[in-house]
Amino acid sequence: MQYKRILLKLSGEALMGERQYGIDPKRLSEYAKEIKEVVEKGIEVAIVIGGGNIFRGVAGASNGMDRVQGDHMGMLATCINGLALQSALEDENVHTRLQTALEIKEVAEPYIKRKAIRHLEKGRVVIFGAGTGNPYFTTDTAAVLRAIEISADAILKGTRVDGVYNEDPEKNKNATKFDTISFKDVINKGLKVMDMTAFTLSEENKLPIIIFDMNKTGNLMKLVSGEKIGTIVDV
Ligand code: UDP
Repeated sequence: MQYKRILLKLSGEALMGERQYGIDPKRLSEYAKEIKEVVEKGIEVAIVIGGGNIFRGVAGASNGMDRVQGDHMGMLATCINGLALQSALEDENVHTRLQTALEIKEVAEPYIKRKAIRHLEKGRVVIFGAGTGNPYFTTDTAAVLRAIEISADAILKGTRVDGVYNEDPEKNKNATKFDTISFKDVINKGLKVMDMTAFTLSEENKLPIIIFDMNKTGNLMKLVSGEKIGTIVDV
């Protein structure tokens, strides 16, 4: 196996499947099966999940809502997604813990690094909810932060495109994909992998980011087994 401990970042939008809003139970269950496979291989899996399928603070702010209020709503949205994912994983008999950066102690554990690591060592999947717990941040930043804290080998960002391209592949059919690219080249070429706060945090801490298509069955397993899929962003 290429990796021992991974941090998987899933966007909220990915959970929508074919829907326009909310959670598609079919998609959720597909993800749970993919995750189960790698857990059974002994890989330690932590997950950060976004909230964009339910609420984004910037969207609220653009409609006149106070940004901080909106961000609190966004962070709670990630907890809703986290609970849904936890439930789907438990349906697959995968042991999980949800830890949140904002305390909701009746439904989830508060985030405690040492406890998170202990869960991982015991083979439990740990889902981190409520982002960083602070407004004006994204769940990509939360994913990098948690990955560094728990000493993950890499952050695996599941998206609907299968890597980083020189141009937008959804707009230009001739766009070419990078198999590997350095942090510096991503910046020099003006490519977008994550928001800058998340990206520079990852670069400073030499945490590799792998962008891959999570919707293709078996991709997660291939990746952790060392197959070259997606794009690796590294030093
Ligand atoms: N959010 C926040 N602080 C964080 C992480 C998230 O305030 O540390 C809020 C923010 O409003 C964001 C929303 O939660 O828009 C959902 O997160 P994100 O947009 O990153 O989700 P994704 O795009 O991955 O679905």
